[in-house]
This record gives sequence, C-alpha cells and structure tokens, in this order.
Amino acid sequence: MLTLAAQGPRSMEITPRVHSIPVSHPFLRGPLASNVYLVVDGAQGALIDAGYPDDGSVRPRLEYLRGMAGPSEGSGFALKGSSPKGQALKLEYIIVTHHHVDHCGGAHALRQATGAAICMHPLEASILSEQRSDAPQDVDAPGGPRAMAEQLRAWRQATAQATADRLVEGGDTIRLGGVTIEVIDTPGHTLGSICLYLREERVLFTGDTVPGLGTVVILPPPAGDMALYIRSLERLKGYEATLVCPGHGPPLRDVARKLQELIDHRHEREQQILSAIGRGQGRLAAMLADIYPELDRHLVGMARGQLLAHLAKLQSEGRVVKRGEGEYVLA
Ligand SMILES: [Zn+2]
Ligand SMILES: [Zn+2]
Repeated sequence: MLTLAAQGPRSMEITPRVHSIPVSHPFLRGPLASNVYLVVDGAQGALIDAGYPDDGSVRPRLEYLRGMAGPSEGSGFALKGSSPKGQALKLEYIIVTHHHVDHCGGAHALRQATGAAICMHPLEASILSEQRSDAPQDVDAPGGPRAMAEQLRAWRQATAQATADRLVEGGDTIRLGGVTIEVIDTPGHTLGSICLYLREERVLFTGDTVPGLGTVVILPPPAGDMALYIRSLERLKGYEATLVCPGHGPPLRDVARKLQELIDHRHEREQQILSAIGRGQGRLAAMLADIYPELDRHLVGMARGQLLAHLAKLQSEGRVVKRGEGEYVLA
C-alpha cells in the first residue's frame, strides 16, 4: 500500500528519499496543479520539476526547502533533511522534465535562491533559448480572457530564463549522495521530454509523459509526436518501476498496468480514426463529431490537436493520405 504521510500542510513524504512539495494555489488546482519533487540522499538534494513561475508557487516551495535547512551556515543554500547524521544538505540540481510553464516555470527563481544547477534535455533548452530571443511570444489561449493571456505571456517569459547549466539526455546519470538518477529520453508530449529513474528506489518521475490522472495532450509535430510518444511509453515498461511520481495527479503504484492503459488508449483512438475515415468521415470536423460526439466546446481545440497528432502518425506510417481540402483517406 502506498501511504502518503503528511508532514505538515505543504509537505508530503512519499518515501524517505522522495518528497512532494505541493502548494495550495488559488486557481491552479486539480489537473492544473503540477507536482514538484525533492529527492534527498545523504548531503545532497535535487528537485524534479520546478512548478509555475509565479510567486505563489515558488515561495512556498522555497519555504519548504528552508524549513528543512535549519540554521544557516554562511553562504550557499543548505538543507537539513533525512541524512542519517543530520548534516546540512545542499540542493544540487533542478532537473526539468520539459520546458512547459507548469514544470520549468519556477526553475530560474529556484536556482537564484539556492544555487542549484538546472538540468534539461538539449531540445528543451533550445526551445527556451528561442523563446528568449523571440519576445514577444504568441499566446495560445484561444477564447480565453485577456488577463489570462497576459499572465501566460509573462509566465512564458519567466520560464524562458531557465538556461541549462547541464544538458542531459537518455542514458546520462546524475549522482546524488549515494543514489543514481538515470535520464530516459521520452519524446512525445514535447520532443525533448525526459523521465527520471531513481534506480535505488525504482521510482520513475514522468513529468507529462505519464499523468497521474486521465491522459495528456499530444500535439502533432513540431510541438509533439504521437508515434514517438507511444514508443516512449513502451520504453518505460522496460524499467519495471514500482512507483510513478507523475507531473500531475497522485503517485501510481500499478506502473505496468498504467503504462499499458495509456498505450491501449492511443491504439483505440487510432482505430476509431481509421474506422471513421473508412466510413467516409475523413474531414476533421466529421471525425471530431464522430469520435467526440458530446465534446464541451472549450475542449474542441485540444481534441483537434489530438486528432491531428494521430493523423500525422498515420500519414508518416503511410496508412492515411491527405487530399486537398483537408480530407483524409485510407492509403
Ligand atoms: Zn507539458
Ligand atoms: Zn504539465
């Protein structure tokens, strides 16, 4: 059984070496809330993901870290945690699973406060670098209130300040005290998405690749890639992890079943698409109506993106071709 022993209003110890640092946020609740984890061993700590960039998300996480740090011992940021001798811990790394605002947003501010090194995949680093040189950013909040769009723009700018101190990719390992965190390439949700595997505890940190609840948005290239996503899920099955700490939602124990469920879900959706096209419903609007008959209008954009991601996969596999006028037919 998984027990989540609450250590206070803002702390959660998942295992002695893995803590979750949730924040209570006025509007980033439920599936919008993102998880930030602290891995601790001996004298060292690493954050996995950094949450949103706003003060209401960053400050409570710093307070949590400071709460573990005990009295300050001069320069640098020291944490006092679960080390057996109670010596000061140092936050060494902030490892981000991908560049999205809800995971990488707080990285720069947390680095400034702690001196930790930000680690990310080179593809995510180059997306953020483009965003830094590309201001002002487009904001894809279709139909959303203007204030929300403005806030998103500001958050993206804050997120883009997270330069990589260390580039990591599949097969790299990060030593932390006496434990090893292995980097796994899991492109799909974004092209440089990574998962992290804490070998000694068989804990998998999955960012948005494996959600704790529901499914995750996979967009067509260049934002995402459905074919790569399904392969990434297959790759994760090889790790035989006993616990998944997802980027959103609660930790998961039944890892193999969850991964299979996510793979099956995508295959079922693909079959629905092929069947709709086979019945002459090859236009996007017809497919949407066929596959998502009772869709809330706020979710139409997302559903379209999912269909386009599947269609891009099917096209690249030569199973579907696109005719002029946006109609898809079986190859
Ligand atoms: Zn994401
Ligand atoms: Zn997310």
